[in-house]
Amino acid sequence: MSAGRFAPSPSADLHIGNLRTAVLAWLFARSTGRRFVMRVEDLDDRTSADIAERQLADLAAIGLTWDGPTEWQSEHTKRYDDVVADLNARGLLYECFCSRRDIAQAPRAPHAPQGAYPGTCRDLTDAERQRRREETGRAPALRLRTDEITYTVDDVLHGRYTGIVDDFVVRRGDGVAAYNLAVVVDDAAQGIDQVVRGDDLLPSSPRQAYLARLLGYPEPTYAHVPLVLNEDGARLAKRDGAVTLAEIGVQKALSQIAGSLGWPTATDPESLLEVFDPARLPRHPWIYRPK
Ligand code: GLU
Repeated sequence: MSAGRFAPSPSADLHIGNLRTAVLAWLFARSTGRRFVMRVEDLDDRTSADIAERQLADLAAIGLTWDGPTEWQSEHTKRYDDVVADLNARGLLYECFCSRRDIAQAPRAPHAPQGAYPGTCRDLTDAERQRRREETGRAPALRLRTDEITYTVDDVLHGRYTGIVDDFVVRRGDGVAAYNLAVVVDDAAQGIDQVVRGDDLLPSSPRQAYLARLLGYPEPTYAHVPLVLNEDGARLAKRDGAVTLAEIGVQKALSQIAGSLGWPTATDPESLLEVFDPARLPRHPWIYRPK
């Protein structure tokens, strides 16, 4: 059965912008009769179980409901390992010894897209690989050998969006599944066919859709919603003042979220279902002024 989702990374308490994205993801899913599932993206070492529990408590406190148990990425390492093994068996992965700095300083082809992996480790011989391993003393990351430079996705808010698909990392040097792989594998495993999230992740969607196709998964519908910014136009952060639910309070947060979306007020997300219309969502960032 089809589902939408919210997938927070537990590195900090959710702020009003994250809560607004969660409400929108919930509205998109519920207004289309989908299940709504929750996934804690805790593969990163900056994440904490305490923060995750507070995030889930905040999401429940503003009235969001989700189906089935919350999934934790840290419990699914086998799921990712199996997919990595499958891609490897298909000859689609290669070891990469590059540091960030190596990548930034590598010579690139004149028309190579900015930010794309320059291909340094793509065609190393066994002997060169061995030498790189010894020189760097690093365990290699695994990159996907892609055969397309760009890929196009359809987004409810952005229309057709074309972005870079380079040889992106699917498993980090420390052996942990990379974000792009984990998201795609989990979305498929959880039956998710609608991805609603902040538009900072729009540039990741071509890579994810490309990988989904490679793995034979259906491509989800995407809706990348505008972020919330502070008065200086930067991403909202803790230092901007009262930005978390604990600081703002449930009712006020809900009415701020409703107001930012053009609705007079909201007592709970349920009450927004009647007025929710994706076609009328604001296309610009919400500038948040804590009061
Ligand atoms: N965990 C990611 C974040 O909190 C979101 C991932 C996603 O929605 O695909 O930024």
